[in-house]
Amino acid sequence: MSSQGISPELLEFAARCLESRGAVVEPGDGFIDCLLSEEISDFLSVSQELRLGAGGQELAYGLPLLDRLVELATRDTPVVYGSLDSGYLKKEGFDRIVMQSMTFPDAKVKCTGRAEVKRTYMVLAVKYTAVSDERKEGLVRICINESTGAILPEMLNRWRSFSPDFYAEGKVPPHFPMHMEKIIKTGLVAAGKASKDELDSFLRSMERRLRRDIASTTSYYAALASEMEEGLNRAGLSKEAMEERRAKIAALPGERDQKIRDLVQKYSVRLRLTAKAALRFLVPVVQVSASVRKGKARGQLALIWNPIMQGIEPVACTGCGKSIRTIYFREKQSGLRPVCERCR
Ligand SMILES: [Zn+2]
Repeated sequence: MSSQGISPELLEFAARCLESRGAVVEPGDGFIDCLLSEEISDFLSVSQELRLGAGGQELAYGLPLLDRLVELATRDTPVVYGSLDSGYLKKEGFDRIVMQSMTFPDAKVKCTGRAEVKRTYMVLAVKYTAVSDERKEGLVRICINESTGAILPEMLNRWRSFSPDFYAEGKVPPHFPMHMEKIIKTGLVAAGKASKDELDSFLRSMERRLRRDIASTTSYYAALASEMEEGLNRAGLSKEAMEERRAKIAALPGERDQKIRDLVQKYSVRLRLTAKAALRFLVPVVQVSASVRKGKARGQLALIWNPIMQGIEPVACTGCGKSIRTIYFREKQSGLRPVCERCR
């Protein structure tokens, strides 16, 4: 992956993660410039002055730098383990339910089999802090299928009614992936989007205030300019004084634009995210296998019927990781890979 193609979500995640640890971050076009403390730069094995993205260091899934960033963001996250059992797994009718809950605009998909398997899920609690002219904090929860990386908001309100059994320490079964970095990273990216929804009225109020202040600044400078121009016509000004005043008038638009830039800075919102706690569940589910036909190409797709959601889970795009229900396929040597519309 070239640094030009860097995902904006990953850059934003890196910016938030570093800022929450005290770094100074300046966003640019397709990159961020960071000034890191010695501790953080040692931890990440990078220099204290760091550019990430276009023209700087790459940031992509699978690169050690991203893993270190996630480790940094989640160093002190407590984890609790449990299991959820619905006691019922769907036996048939998968074709219908798949067609109801997903669309495949460029392929024909047909269910070919089912298998009862166990999958692990994480409910991640993430604290967000939005800092602007004011400050606002809150908590969002994100549910993730740990093996597919799909985000499952439908599961969030439901898992409690399946009375989870919690494992005693030392009794956790081996199904849970040891390394949580990638899962938590997926969760933090999703939490960034979810917290933006929660912050909707806060963001709008900052925007409103920005627009109001820009309007009053603009009309202040317009009034000032016309007052100064009127003054020019008054008698009794020496040639020098006139020129001085003309220069002042000519400088007004520049001053005004600087004031507006300061306002934009004042009302810009910085979001910090911190993973606070994780619940991990082992859940018996149905894996539905499906055959995919796209033109001459043939492939396979594995879907999950989730008993807590009572439905088919979305699929994570193999390009950008986004959870999707409108699924396109991209031809790879390994077969057909599900992707979102943007990664198509
Ligand atoms: Zn995608």
